Amino acid sequence: MDDREELADALRDLAGALRHHRDLGVVEVPLSAAAAAAPPPIDAAKALAAQEAALQGCTLCKLCRSRTNIAFGSGNPRAGLLVVGEGPGEEEDRQGKPFVGRAGQLLTKMLESVGFDRERDAYIANVVKCRPERNRNPEPDEVAACNPFLMAQLDTVRPGVILALGNFAAQTLLGTREGITKLRGRAYEYRSSILVPTFHPAFLLRNPGPEYRRMAWDDLKLAKREFDRLAALKR
Ligand code: URA
Repeated sequence: MDDREELADALRDLAGALRHHRDLGVVEVPLSAAAAAAPPPIDAAKALAAQEAALQGCTLCKLCRSRTNIAFGSGNPRAGLLVVGEGPGEEEDRQGKPFVGRAGQLLTKMLESVGFDRERDAYIANVVKCRPERNRNPEPDEVAACNPFLMAQLDTVRPGVILALGNFAAQTLLGTREGITKLRGRAYEYRSSILVPTFHPAFLLRNPGPEYRRMAWDDLKLAKREFDRLAALKR
């Protein structure tokens, strides 16, 4: 066998091995022994606590003038699902935690309807961490000022699936002006996660008809399917 035939054989073997790995669900192959070494495990809970501490007393945008408390985030720091809302409302501002008011209660039920346990499976955050007065929409400079904190949360939790609630979360993360009605109904690749946009629970409370709820339920089922698929790949 000459050199070229040997090389062709080796490449065929390599292609066969890679196909076999792919069929087993392996999606990344490290290129060197150094890269193969597991990255040092980060303590996600500690990292999030440090980020939250760094945010205390923040004056990067005008929301600092009217807030009572910063609602940084809550839930499982190693969750496979990261839920992103818009910004704290009155109750969240009072308690310093996201989604603890009426919209939060509906969010918990929405998650449960497809088998997610809010405390076990999810980490919950908002695009802005301080309440806009009278629940007005966050303004672009406020979203921009808070964005590094949301990105740090995403990079720390490293969720398989991101559930983006409503226009603000979906548009901010996907970098588009398209409305939620157009964006929802499908999954997007976003950084190293799968992003599923759906209606904000506050919108569903204002529009209680079955039509929007059914669409939201379809989106949640999609998020759960992706969550389960990614969890199976990790096993
Ligand atoms: N709405 C949001 O978008 N976030 C909250 O935390 C509460 C209500």
